[in-house]
Amino acid sequence: MLQQTQVAVVIPYFERFMARFPDLASLAAAEQDEVLHLWSGLGYYARARHLHRAAQRILAEHQGRFPTQIEALQALPGIGRSTAGAILSLALGQQQPILDGNCKRVLARYFAIPGWPGSSALLAKLWALATALTPAEQTAQFNQAMMDLGATLCTRSRPDCDRCPLADCCQALAQNRVHEYPAPKPRKQLPLRAAQLLLAQDPAGKILLQRRPPTGVWGGLWTPPELALEADAEDWCRSQLQASVLRLEMLPPRRHTFSHFQLEMRPLLVTLASQPQRIGEPGAAWIDPAQPGTLGLPAPIRALLNALGAVSR
Ligand code: SF4
Repeated sequence: MLQQTQVAVVIPYFERFMARFPDLASLAAAEQDEVLHLWSGLGYYARARHLHRAAQRILAEHQGRFPTQIEALQALPGIGRSTAGAILSLALGQQQPILDGNCKRVLARYFAIPGWPGSSALLAKLWALATALTPAEQTAQFNQAMMDLGATLCTRSRPDCDRCPLADCCQALAQNRVHEYPAPKPRKQLPLRAAQLLLAQDPAGKILLQRRPPTGVWGGLWTPPELALEADAEDWCRSQLQASVLRLEMLPPRRHTFSHFQLEMRPLLVTLASQPQRIGEPGAAWIDPAQPGTLGLPAPIRALLNALGAVSR
């Protein structure tokens, strides 16, 4: 939960998650929908899907015991080299290096290493340094100290070098170029994608949601049908729902930024003249927008349904 999300935001999510899934077995046995529902609002839903699948694989392949070999740990969904190193060093005291964003920043500054840490050449260099520096004794303390140093003193925008225990030997500080390290990611304009979001509403006021495919954007979550801009919503309702349309209303567009593109959602509220014929198919649900229940919904879709529910109340 803490990857890409701040501690203060995570705490209530963590507490709810742990209350519902206190151990591996309860998480592994849960429906994916419930896991995603409890994650809803944290974003990066692949993490929740990975966590869920990892729990199932630990039960199936490791007799329910958390693996203690780095290779076995890295073979689990969602656990990369640094996360595996953090788990094994902090939980078991193994001599394993870590390299999260904070550590990369500290190393790049301390050794005044030019370049963007996301590039594979620089990443290899930073891993080599982290491996060489990680001590055999007190590895957990060392790794925790590196993460804490990056999180509290050697911060991205306001490093507090006056209080830093590494100040005497820090090369970026010696060069008076602390803010130049690490180099930022080369900027790329995020492409913009636009799509119609079809809010098909039956005569009882319920809205159609469909479960998205398990991978890709909002994988496994529930959203209204997404139509290409040129698609005809009335045709879609006739062919997919066998229902005719009473009224069409464009709602204000909403934008959501993903890591690799921006999505402009153009919600189209379509009031159906009659009860749709094809309802209750697998992967489809008709929900009251004022009470969407426990389906896993992406936060922007939840906000859209809330606004719709508030209007129709
Ligand atoms: S002296 Fe400043 S730049 Fe260098 S490691 Fe410490 S906080 Fe970071």
